[in-house]
Amino acid sequence: MKIIKIKDLIYEYAKYDEEGNIAEMNRAIDDVNLDVKQGDFIAILGHNGSGKSTLAKHLNAILIPAEGIVWVGGKDTKDESNIWDIRQTAGMVFQNPDNQIIGSIVEEDVGFGPENIGVETDDIWKRVDMALRAVNMTAYRNHSPNKLSGGQKQRVAIAGVVAMKPQCIILDEPTAMLDPLGRKEVIQTVKELNEKEKVTIILITHYMEEVIFADHVIVMDGGKVVMQGKPREIFSQVEKLKEYRLDVPQVTELAHELKKEGVFLPDGILTIEEFVNAMAEFL
Ligand code: ADP
Ligand code: MG
Repeated sequence: MKIIKIKDLIYEYAKYDEEGNIAEMNRAIDDVNLDVKQGDFIAILGHNGSGKSTLAKHLNAILIPAEGIVWVGGKDTKDESNIWDIRQTAGMVFQNPDNQIIGSIVEEDVGFGPENIGVETDDIWKRVDMALRAVNMTAYRNHSPNKLSGGQKQRVAIAGVVAMKPQCIILDEPTAMLDPLGRKEVIQTVKELNEKEKVTIILITHYMEEVIFADHVIVMDGGKVVMQGKPREIFSQVEKLKEYRLDVPQVTELAHELKKEGVFLPDGILTIEEFVNAMAEFL
């Protein structure tokens, strides 16, 4: 089943002049088509301003298409009566965990969403237990979120979304403000939610290393989908990725440079382990 379907999507922001009249329209999404299957892990890559966040905001009806149609869980986002269902189906995690955490204790914060939609008290606690376990934060349930590291805070924010039991979670650059350890924790958490809980994941990032596990990678530039495929297919096109101002993982770049010098290596090496194995074969 398709959890998300995007057909011929166009979105434009208005630019205003000093008098407050619309001076021009800036096209942020330019004819995007996308199908996401239930249980998929999709990664969206793209340089700043390529339209990733604008696309993400269409997936839980924060933005409504100027042209085209977006269906989430089979519901058209343009129809206002679908908004409640759409927001239950697709949960969002944003860049800054500090803006997403409201509770003064971790477990309170995670329970806030379910409480807000009228889930019964017993069930709220079950959901809080489940969600904290899923992000590996049970040990911190009685802590104050203020004292947590960035990666831990972001995992609490993810738990808050998980507690709503969405079928799909969209994460818009969830690691952009984190240190390398925090980034690793968050990506690991997301990967486990996908593998163990079968949650559909849409991960937006500009760190290539984070998309190695994705089933499908989409590259955006200038509001368009300019590349898509399996991670290895994408990463084997180093020069093209650079054109779109994306940083290739160091090990992929090294392998690419060696290949150009005549070293026989497979395309699209993604991890140090793969690199070491391929080099061992070569030597
Ligand atoms: P990304 O998330 O890939 O950095 P965005 O979706 O935020 O890209 O932005 C895409 C384009 O839309 C950019 O040109 C950006 O300047 C413009 N844009 C984004 N948000 C707004 C807004 N609220 N008002 C006007 N223009 C916007
Ligand atoms: Mg963005």
